[in-house]
Amino acid sequence: MTLAPAPSPALEDANILIVDDDPLAIRILRAALGAYKHVRFATSGADAMRLSRDKPPDLILLDSEMPGENGFEFCKRLKLEPLLQDVPVIFVTSHDDLEFETRALGLGAADFLPKPISAPRVELRVRLHLQLKHQLDQLRALASTDGLTGLANRRVVDETLKREWRRAQRSGRPLSLLLIDVDYFKLFNDRYGHPAGDGCLKRVAAAVRGAARRPTDLAARFGGEEFAVVLAETSLSGACLVADSIRRSIIESSIPHAGSEVAPHVTVSIGAACLGGEPNAADRRSGPPLPSVPPHGIEELIEAADKALYRAKKSGRNRVEPGDLGS
Ligand code: GH3
Ligand code: MG
Ligand code: MG
Ligand code: MG
Repeated sequence: MTLAPAPSPALEDANILIVDDDPLAIRILRAALGAYKHVRFATSGADAMRLSRDKPPDLILLDSEMPGENGFEFCKRLKLEPLLQDVPVIFVTSHDDLEFETRALGLGAADFLPKPISAPRVELRVRLHLQLKHQLDQLRALASTDGLTGLANRRVVDETLKREWRRAQRSGRPLSLLLIDVDYFKLFNDRYGHPAGDGCLKRVAAAVRGAARRPTDLAARFGGEEFAVVLAETSLSGACLVADSIRRSIIESSIPHAGSEVAPHVTVSIGAACLGGEPNAADRRSGPPLPSVPPHGIEELIEAADKALYRAKKSGRNRVEPGDLGS
C-alpha cells in the first residue's frame, strides 16, 4: 500500500543525513527513504558533524541515544554552527515523555519519530520537513536577491559588512568597500527608455559580478543605479585595482550612451574605502596580517566610500577615487 505519493523532483534531490549508532536502525530508515537519492549515514556525533560541515544536509534524522556524544549534545553543537543551525533535525527515539520532548524542542529540534520505526510515517514526516525547508530556502533567497540583476541586495551588504568587520577585527586584516554609480544614468533612461535602462543595469551588474572573483568577495546592488562590492582581506590599493577592472570592463561592454558627457558609451564612477589598511599601502590581498585596525566602524566605511564616489563624480566621472577614513 502506498500511503505517500513520490516526492517531487526538488525533494528527491534533497540531501539527508541519518545518524544512529545502530546499523540496523540505519538500514530500516534508509529503506523507508528509498525514493531519495542522496542519503548519507553516520554512527556517531563526530562523524555526523564532519559530514555536515563537508556538505550541509537538508535534513538530519538523529538517534537520541548514542555512546559518546548523544543526540542532544550533537544537536546543541549543530545549532551553534552558522551554516548548519537552520538544518531541520528530527529526533528518532523510543522516549515519548514530556521531558524528552520539551528538552529536544528547546534545543531547536523540528520533530520526533518514535521507535520502533514505521516506514510510511518516516516517509511522510521527512517529506513534510523537506518541503518546509525548501520553501524557507526559497524565501531566504528571495529576501536577499535583487529582482532585476540577480545580485545580492542591500540587506546582504549590511549583513556581510557586519560579519566581515567582526572577522577583520579578530584577524587585523583590512576590509574594503567599493561603491559604484552609473554616470549620467538619468539621461540614459530619458534617451533610451526605462526598459533599456533596466537592460543596461543588468549588463553593469554582470561586470560587477565578474570582478568579485574570490569566494569571500560580495557583489551587490546597493540601490537604484548604484552597486557595491565588499572585499574582505583587501587593502585600499587592492580595492582600487578591483574597482578599475570593473570600470574598464564596463567600458569594454560598449553600451551606447549618446547622452553622456564623458564618453559615447556607459561609464561608471567608483569610490573605494578601506578599514584597517594604510591609505596608500601596497596591495595586501594576500599579504601578512596588519598590526592593528583603526577604531572605525562600518558606517564610516560606507561614508568614506560615498564621499570618494562624490569626488569621482566631481572630478570628471569615469574614474576610481580612493577614500580616506582618517585615523
Ligand atoms: P550621475 O552621473 O551624477 O550619477 O548622474 P545620474 O543621472 O546617474 O544620477 P541621478 O541620481 O540623477 O539619476 C539616477 C537615475 O537612475 C534616476 C533613476 O530613475 C534611475 N534608476 C534608478 N533605479 C533604476 C532602475 O531600476 N531601472 C532604471 N531603468 N532606472 C533606474
Ligand atoms: Mg542508539
Ligand atoms: Mg546615484
Ligand atoms: Mg548615477
